Amino acid sequence: MEQHHNRIYLDHAATTRTRQEAVAAMLPYFTDFYGNPSSVYDFAAEPKRAIAAARKTIADSIGASVSEIFFTSGGSESDNWALTAAAELGEKEGKKHIITTAIEHHAILHTCAYLEERGFSVTYLQSDEQGYISPEAVEKAIRPDTCLISVMAANNEIGTIEPIREIGMVARKYGILFHTDAVQAYGHMRIDVNECGIDMMSTSAHKLNGPRGVGFLYIRRGVKVRSFIRGGAQEHGRRAGTENTPGIVGFGKAAELAFAELEEHAETERKLRDHLLDRILTEIPDTVLNGPETGEKNSGRLWNNINVTFRGADAESILIMLDMQGICASGGSACASGSLDPSHVLTAIGRSEEDARASVRLTVGCENTEEEMDYTAERLKEIVARIRRMRSAEHGGDR
Ligand SMILES: *Cc1c(COP(=O)(O)O)cnc(C)c1O
Repeated sequence: MEQHHNRIYLDHAATTRTRQEAVAAMLPYFTDFYGNPSSVYDFAAEPKRAIAAARKTIADSIGASVSEIFFTSGGSESDNWALTAAAELGEKEGKKHIITTAIEHHAILHTCAYLEERGFSVTYLQSDEQGYISPEAVEKAIRPDTCLISVMAANNEIGTIEPIREIGMVARKYGILFHTDAVQAYGHMRIDVNECGIDMMSTSAHKLNGPRGVGFLYIRRGVKVRSFIRGGAQEHGRRAGTENTPGIVGFGKAAELAFAELEEHAETERKLRDHLLDRILTEIPDTVLNGPETGEKNSGRLWNNINVTFRGADAESILIMLDMQGICASGGSACASGSLDPSHVLTAIGRSEEDARASVRLTVGCENTEEEMDYTAERLKEIVARIRRMRSAEHGGDR
């Protein structure tokens, strides 16, 4: 099926199109090679081989070995598994303190809230106003009973790339488990789990043009976290359930291509992003960029991310009007949309609730074009001006 003619998709942090090569690689595992990989007969050999090949591609991409890759249903499951299992490990040694940040994805924050109900204490580190978590703050928060540090690799709302290598070194110095939610980073930047001192890492295929519903949790050899889904002996006996063979194969293909094309994609996305961002900030008055500056080549911001406050407008109206023009964007995160709560990330970096409610996230992909950026900039200009006029007329009427 063709993409809708007029649609401009600018929500690549929410999900991405499954690339054609991944779909093509997946198809035979629905129809021809549908054998259960756990079966003993020869018909199981091909799916088993394909899963092993995907596991190898993925392990190589982060400097891990195949025995350290556990396929899951995606980022949320990986985050839930990593945190609850690490907490139980800590509990066995009487350690019930977790360090994380106030700007994590809800898969982390809600799991931490659950663990707090179970008697754990959690430190939610504040970032600076660009969203950076300082390794010194992590070190200061460590207590004798700290069992886990979990800091995301890159933020899904404002694109901040966190110093996970330095944080990993702190964790290692104190012998504390280090988990990172790398869902926004994996396939977009190179991460070596050994160089960064990572013990556990969550990823998700659909954020790198793979299929939705599959991801992996990296678990360092020797870290004895128990399984989260109990049942059969799949995934080295630690994550039960018949393997999602097509999904895993599609993830493997998407990862292989994402890493082969990584620099090229980053360059394309950065150019598109900078073009759109530049037009927004220069042509629409009263706009503020949320998150790190984009100036230098190696800035600490994901190259596809824009998050802007349109003062005196509201994100909900902007998003509805953009949608009517065929433009997909998001307010904060996809999970937070549809709720009236202002983004927890924007309020954590010091934005007022009003500014947070006037903020829009636009995340580009390498399939976008410069024409789409120009079209979006033009529509945004009109839309924001219209909303501001409407709102000032309303306020005028009140007087
Ligand atoms: C998308 C996302 C998740 C959730 O991943 P799913 O595969 O959709 O469950 C977790 N963390 C971050 C940072 C994300 O961007």
